[in-house]
Parts: sequence; structure tokens; C-alpha cells
Amino acid sequence: NFVPPIRNNGGSACSTITSRVTGKNDDSMEDSIKKCLEMLCGPDGELPEKLRNLEPRLIEHVSNEIMDKDPNVRWVDIAGLEHAKKCVTEMVIWPLLRPDIFRGCRSPGRGLLLFGPPGTGKTMIGKAIAGEAKATFFYISASSLTSKWIGEGEKLVRALFGVACCRQPAVIFVDEIDSLLSQRKSDGEHESSRRLKTQFLIEMEGFDSGNEQILLIGATNRPQELDEAARRRLTKRLYIPLPSSEARAWIIRNLLEKDGLFKLSEEETSVVCKLTEGYSGSDMKNLVKDASMGPLREALQRGVEITELSKEDMRPVMLKDFEAALQEVRPSVSANELGTYEEWNRQFGSLS
Ligand code: ADP
Repeated sequence: NFVPPIRNNGGSACSTITSRVTGKNDDSMEDSIKKCLEMLCGPDGELPEKLRNLEPRLIEHVSNEIMDKDPNVRWVDIAGLEHAKKCVTEMVIWPLLRPDIFRGCRSPGRGLLLFGPPGTGKTMIGKAIAGEAKATFFYISASSLTSKWIGEGEKLVRALFGVACCRQPAVIFVDEIDSLLSQRKSDGEHESSRRLKTQFLIEMEGFDSGNEQILLIGATNRPQELDEAARRRLTKRLYIPLPSSEARAWIIRNLLEKDGLFKLSEEETSVVCKLTEGYSGSDMKNLVKDASMGPLREALQRGVEITELSKEDMRPVMLKDFEAALQEVRPSVSANELGTYEEWNRQFGSLS
């Protein structure tokens, strides 16, 4: 029962907000909704037009759960992927920083697809784009729209784009976008998911044609499921492959150095890199975590009590810890799957 705020000469917009959110929710929820709406009000004290017909609790959800004001990832945190970084800088970061230059012929595409195996840094790239372009980051997993927000997905999508519009420049990152824009149709496709998809495409169309400073990034491990309409809207499609040997070395060094645990020689690091062919960035992180447990386990085996254990009781992480960890942490992507990505990249990817 959402009633748009009415300018009221006597009272503030806050009081109109207050009157609209009372009733259905518990007190703390109501406070949170009120705070959110107040923050979105313009200098005139009114809610922007785009938000007036949206449900306050969905606006609250977008603002508090989906929006991330400080994504806290920078290019330097991401190993390798030089090609993707270069493309993305030119294609989306510069235009977000200098919209005045990127007009006309230079006007950027508003849709970017990042595809490739899981755990290779697609989400990190999305966050880094927002960080580098000083944009607000919105993260949503498309599968949650169909599983968690049953029947409300469309409304949430409207709220998402509505809030993003008020928080420009904005980057909307849609994880598992294939589950929203897949080409499977008819019997498998319910009426509700068809409507959700239509709503999503309408919203995309809306900011594509305007002067909005919004970038949509879709990420997927299953690009082959995307239909033609999705491909058309996600004009730039970048393959995010498994990390190279150098990138894997960088991840090992970077993670261990943070904790002051990196003591491997160059040769030892390159042995680990040879043994981790086919590991994703996220597999590497799990491997390092497991290897870093080696010195701890060994100290405990010597009989040191966990409660008594001091830093000095533990030796640095060594090659043998990685060799043991390699037995536990296996690569999560098969060679077969890699072939599918490479094929799709040849057919639809942005190669330059
Ligand atoms: P994706 O979105 O591709 O599934 P993420 O970006 O969520 O993968 O990465 C998962 C985790 O794996 C990250 O938090 C990071 O710790 C690690 N990781 C993956 N790729 C990289 C990379 N290229 N550089 C550094 N860390 C990475």
C-alpha cells in the first residue's frame, strides 16, 4: 500500500515517509526503511520519481543488502588478467570517469559479460571496476531472484535499477546471469520467470538509451546458455580464463606475504606452479589456506598444546606443505569444460 509522498508545506518529507512505512513491519525494520528512504530523498526533501511507486521494504533491501558503497577491491589485488583489465579500463572505467568525452561515436556499451570457469576473478573485476571508477556497486545473484524472491523478482529488479539510478555512477553486477537470461524456453520456463526476464530486459533497455551512468555486468560460468537477446545487450564479452603460471605464483606470494608467512624460494614457487596447472584463483586460495595449516599441524603433533602455541613454535610454510595440500585441494574445473569456454569465446567473445 505504497502512497507516493506528497509535498506538505507544514511537515518534512520524513514525516510523509514515516506515515508510509508504519504498520506492516517490526520496529527495527521500520527504522531501517525510514533511514534508507531519507537518504535517497533529493535536496527538495522528496523521494526521486523513479522510486515513488516502489515498495519501501524492497528499496531498503536493495540499499542495505545489494548495494556496496565500498567494494574495496583494486586492480592490484587481481592476479594476471591483463587483457581483461586493459579492455575494461578503456571500455568502462574511462567513460564512467569522463562521461563528457565519451559521447557520440565514443559512447560506451552499457553491458559487459564476463564469462569463464568459476573462481577466476569475475566478481573481483566487477568490484574493482566500481572501486576504480568511484561508482556504487550493486551485487545480485540472478538465481536468488528466482529462488529466494519467488513472485517478487520483478519488483526487486525494478527497485534495483531504481536505486542504482539514484546512485550514479553505478555498476550493477548480476552473477549467474544465465539463470535469468537463458535460452531454455516453453515447457521448462514458467510464466513468472519469463516475466522476470522481460522486466530485466526492459530495465536494461531503459538505461541503455538514456544518459545514465550505469553499467551492467553479467557474469556466467555457462555462457552457452545465454540467448541471442542477452548477447545483443551484453555487447562486450570478455573471457576470464584460469590463472597463468605467473598469476598463480602471484596469488601464493600475495596471500602468504599478507601473513608474513612467505619463505619459499623461486624454485620452490615454480614447482608449486607446475603442480597447479588447471587450478582456478579460488582453488589457489584454498590450496594456500590448506598449506598454511601444515606448520600448525606439525607443532601440535610435537605435543605443543593449542592453547600454549606461540608464533615461534611454528616454522614457515614450506614446499612439503603445498605437496600435502595438493592431495586435499583438487582443481575444480575440468579440461573438457575449458574447451567449451574457448569455443564460445572464439564464436562470441570480444577478442581484441
Ligand atoms: P568468480 O566470480 O569468477 O567465480 P571470484 O571473483 O568470486 O570468482 O573469486 C573468488 C576468490 O578467488 C576471490 O575472492 C579471490 O580470493 C580468488 N581469486 C580468483 N581469481 C583471482 C585472481 N585473478 N587474482 C586474485 N585472487 C583471485
